[in-house]
Amino acid sequence: MKNVDYIIVGDGYAAFFFAHQLILNHKSFVLFSANQTSASEVSAGIVNPLVLKKFTTFWLAAEQIESLVTTMSEIEAYTGQNYLIHENIHRIFHDQSEKDLWTAKTETEELKPFLNPEFETLDTISNPFGTGKVDHSARLDVNGFFKGISTYLEKHDLLVNEKLNYAEINDSTYKDFTFKNMVFCEGMGVTSNPYFTDIQVIANKGHHLKVKLAKTISPQYTIKKKHFLFPLNEELYYYGGTYDPNERANEIDDFKTEELKEGLAAFYSHDFEVVEVNYGFRPTVKDRRPILGNLADHQNYYIFNGLGARGILNGCYFSKELYDHIENDKELMKEVDLKRFTK
Ligand SMILES: Cc1cc2nc3c(=O)[nH]c(=O)nc-3n(C[C@H](O)[C@H](O)[C@H](O)COP(=O)(O)OP(=O)(O)OC[C@H]3O[C@@H](n4cnc5c(N)ncnc54)[C@H](O)[C@@H]3O)c2cc1C
Repeated sequence: MKNVDYIIVGDGYAAFFFAHQLILNHKSFVLFSANQTSASEVSAGIVNPLVLKKFTTFWLAAEQIESLVTTMSEIEAYTGQNYLIHENIHRIFHDQSEKDLWTAKTETEELKPFLNPEFETLDTISNPFGTGKVDHSARLDVNGFFKGISTYLEKHDLLVNEKLNYAEINDSTYKDFTFKNMVFCEGMGVTSNPYFTDIQVIANKGHHLKVKLAKTISPQYTIKKKHFLFPLNEELYYYGGTYDPNERANEIDDFKTEELKEGLAAFYSHDFEVVEVNYGFRPTVKDRRPILGNLADHQNYYIFNGLGARGILNGCYFSKELYDHIENDKELMKEVDLKRFTK
């Protein structure tokens, strides 16, 4: 038997950011990965303090960005790399009224830090009304992040490449492990979890394209019109992602691929070639808040889920909240507490 403080179930943002808290605090743990492509790996990696449809911000946006910047330097200390790319989002204005709305909102206390008042017109793409820059926005190098942390976990024998089988959990033992706490971070996989049956996590399917552009865009900003476009490397750009709360099929939806192609063609008039199409399922919650907490009858079984469309900011910020709750008796915020489903 091997004794560990924690078993983590899952390998997306929720699991990896929680693992980071354990590494930081010198707790022993193992992380079980089912070795399937997670929604996190399909994500764009956009870190955005705004809702770009209406130019508003959201709950804890500034605190979450600050926490991410700190966390990324902490991760750099043991992986040797900072995966945060400080490239701002440039939002293409649809018309003059949107531009005027942006200007008006730069005057408000809440939005001043994020809406840059200077506009820019970009080359190569169609942007007749110019673009607005989102200050404090950034992008995560998604591939680098998952590769870097996985390599660290493997090197320290903390990664078990195996789907955790719920039927083999027996109080505080699982196969060869005894654990103090188990933290379930399964994304949409939670629907197979027999312990957390009361929570309502709803899948929102998202597709993205990887494309080759006939004419590269310079400077290489993150551009947003209907979806996000940004360079992944010298050859490929990411374009996505779509939102579909009603689609559950485990396959590429050609209709969504077309939607993306049309979305890109709407502001990029040169040729492009679709090299890859990928999709994933965001674990969303009706009240748009993550879900954290433990069971009344298995007090050492915790859940960390419902990260929604903001897996990076929610995963980073709330992994610390959950850790402090478990280890330091910090009360959970009522907005994210699992109890809102179990009462
Ligand atoms: C197209 C698209 C674009 C997105 N873009 C962004 C973005 O730009 N910025 C942003 O912040 N968010 C983005 N998101 C949202 C983000 O990806 C999600 O919020 C996030 O992935 C949720 O993370 P998670 O760890 O909860 O779940 P997941 O990433 O789904 O990870 C859960 C993992 O647990 C594993 N698992 C399940 N059951 C078990 C088990 N029994 N044993 C072992 N492993 C198990 C699963 O195989 C899975 O790999 C995007 C999502 C999509 C689909």
